[in-house]
Amino acid sequence: MRSRFAPSPTGRLHVGNAYSALLCAHWAANNGADLLLRIEDIDHSRCRPQFIEGIFEDLQWLGLSWAEPVRLQSSHLEDYRTAIARLRELDLIYPCFCTRRTILQEMEKMAIAPHAEDAAGIYPGICRNLCSDEQERRMQSTPFAWRLNVKKAMGLIDTPLCWHDEQGLEYSAEIDHDVVIGRKDISFSYHLSVVVDDGIQGISHVIRGKDLEASTAIHRLLQQLLGLPAPTYIHHPLIHTSTGERLAKRNGATTLASLREIGVDAQKLSAYLLNLPGLIWPFEQQNNSTCNSEILRLLGKR
Ligand code: GLU
Repeated sequence: MRSRFAPSPTGRLHVGNAYSALLCAHWAANNGADLLLRIEDIDHSRCRPQFIEGIFEDLQWLGLSWAEPVRLQSSHLEDYRTAIARLRELDLIYPCFCTRRTILQEMEKMAIAPHAEDAAGIYPGICRNLCSDEQERRMQSTPFAWRLNVKKAMGLIDTPLCWHDEQGLEYSAEIDHDVVIGRKDISFSYHLSVVVDDGIQGISHVIRGKDLEASTAIHRLLQQLLGLPAPTYIHHPLIHTSTGERLAKRNGATTLASLREIGVDAQKLSAYLLNLPGLIWPFEQQNNSTCNSEILRLLGKR
């Protein structure tokens, strides 16, 4: 049995990331399983080498260890290219030349979603049925993404799309639009790389936050199309702030580095996170000025 922690180096790890890593590590320890570390760095516009260093530093500080080698996605682009080529051979993906604006305009015309904020995750199929001559011609001059023809793909696999958790409970979901599996800017998508990597690394148990649960149907579909086995999926609840916001890099969630700097003990932090009341992180997001009763007396909890 084998699980993985798969952070993206787009910032320093925060306490929500640490919670996820600790759950993976505990699961592995309790089950005599391997824990792998994977650095998900295909998005070169957002990932930075210093954050990769930071991941190692923070996880080591937390006292976690993992089986080598660490898989760095940017060193395995050929694997993702091969998967795209396979889906192309099966005629299940098509080049999409749309910009956000053309998608929105089309949806307004079709009265699907009059507001921009409704547009994420919907695609009205504009490029789905272009003839191959037109595809070839436009591919020469226009940037394009690869979209999965979901309806066609669903016709090839066992339905409904489902997965199981550790208790054997079954979950299923539908995919409501042709998802991008090769981005215009970086050629691949998170969905494609995660599925290829979990397959190559022989991951039997995917343990990750509930925010990624909505992607699991897409992952199950890609696994079946690419002939990859189905891991067990455990989606853990997320830590929130006391005002109900999900901890995230973009809202300045407390980083492990900042806690270390003010003298928090890693073991105390781990124990605190694993028993966090209500899964609420009660401290100021950025604890530059410390306090909150000196982060509950550096987590000895006073
Ligand atoms: N790289 C993803 C993240 O940092 C996690 C991917 C996964 O666990 O499937 O959110």
